[in-house]
Amino acid sequence: MESTTKITILHNALIVTMDSELRVFENGAIVFDGDKITDIGKSDNILRRHRASDVTLHDLNGQFVLPGFVNTHVHTSQQLGRGIADDVDLITWLHGRIWPYESHMTEEDSFISTLLCGIELIHSGVTCFAEAGGQYVSGMAKAVELLGLRACLTKSIMDFGEGLPDLWSSQTTDQCIQSQKELYEKHHDTAEGRIRVWLGIRQILNSTDRLLLETRDLARELNTGIHMHIAEISYENQFVVDSRKVDHGTVTHLKKIDFLQSNLLAAHCVWVNDNEIGYLSRAGVKVSHCPAAAMRMLGFAPVRKMIDAGVCVSLGTDGAPSNNRMSIVDEMYLASLINKGHEVFTTGTTDPTALSAEVVFRMATIDGAKTVLWDNEIGSLEVGKKADIVIIDPCSWTMAPIHDCISSLVYSMRTENIISVICNGKWIMKDKKILNVDEKEIILQAKKASKELLERAGISIPTRMKMI
Ligand SMILES: [Zn+2]
Repeated sequence: MESTTKITILHNALIVTMDSELRVFENGAIVFDGDKITDIGKSDNILRRHRASDVTLHDLNGQFVLPGFVNTHVHTSQQLGRGIADDVDLITWLHGRIWPYESHMTEEDSFISTLLCGIELIHSGVTCFAEAGGQYVSGMAKAVELLGLRACLTKSIMDFGEGLPDLWSSQTTDQCIQSQKELYEKHHDTAEGRIRVWLGIRQILNSTDRLLLETRDLARELNTGIHMHIAEISYENQFVVDSRKVDHGTVTHLKKIDFLQSNLLAAHCVWVNDNEIGYLSRAGVKVSHCPAAAMRMLGFAPVRKMIDAGVCVSLGTDGAPSNNRMSIVDEMYLASLINKGHEVFTTGTTDPTALSAEVVFRMATIDGAKTVLWDNEIGSLEVGKKADIVIIDPCSWTMAPIHDCISSLVYSMRTENIISVICNGKWIMKDKKILNVDEKEIILQAKKASKELLERAGISIPTRMKMI
């Protein structure tokens, strides 16, 4: 029988804290009471200090304890659309697949999609994510509350643009702002404080300057963040040069209208020049780098340059139709390799020190927490912070032997090594079993909902080979 005590000690573990001194405890222990970490240190000291307390003890036998990962750009509503837009051109991707898919979703679809996505996020060690923007924040919020995750939820907002589905093109700027206010009032700081509501801007191709500025002002008033896709494709910059009469692109224009600020989460930032990197850095804008989606759809983001310029860069998976894998573990591996490769491509010289393992691990943890403006409570394992914890089993064919624990976490670890996840002091996955929902049942529901949604949206996926 499991004890009902509130205090839990995980001991006999290697603990990577990601605190300001980057301490790693060999044979360490961590104590949490309710949702908060109350003690951390070497196992023998911790066990001695808490000998008299009524605690639940877990001997981890040398397993690793890490801060929960933060996925800073994910479209939970797109999970039912995994595989609907593989190997298609960008216009087909958006106009032929994603917009029909998203505009035919129901709130129930969004709920099931977020459950399915959340299951994958938990399996990959994510305890907090930033939603990039879907249609039904209420559906997402219901799923996040149930799964036990932490999230910054956002509605996808657009008040302008060609080719939009009928349902969306009728939204006025005032309606866009009003709907966000209502969502904030309804869902912000709910689910024991695990859910925050941010403001969303889909992208500059679909927003007027008035929408941008009113969103900026509303975010200030509500003291929350703004999540926006920025400088994704070269066409976007050309569009901005033509329509806004600036000399480069989206970031230059956003600087000109005084939109760049420290509560802005800019997803992608692939097509930014040196001046624009300077603007992002000086304004304290946070960037979500999504390596897989960038390689598939967008191009090489100047990640090393942005980090060197002092920009806080973190990791995101993007949505299932842009990536297919919602694993931040895979993104760590890809981020390191892609940016080493990019270095050779741009300078003509190999540099294996580009985006080292410790830098990439920061991006997935403490810098992810900074990106979602939550680093006072998450992103590292420290006394007083929330108990958002991942336990991994390194003793497997994927990781053994280990000579350098930090590089092993980035270069060898697979999603399969993640065995247990704790969020806000509660176990949400234990020994690879998702605890709050029935994983198999959700998969069945998702398959059904996805099939029906594609039929409603009139999306059919051509076969590639001779199906018999
Ligand atoms: Zn996105």
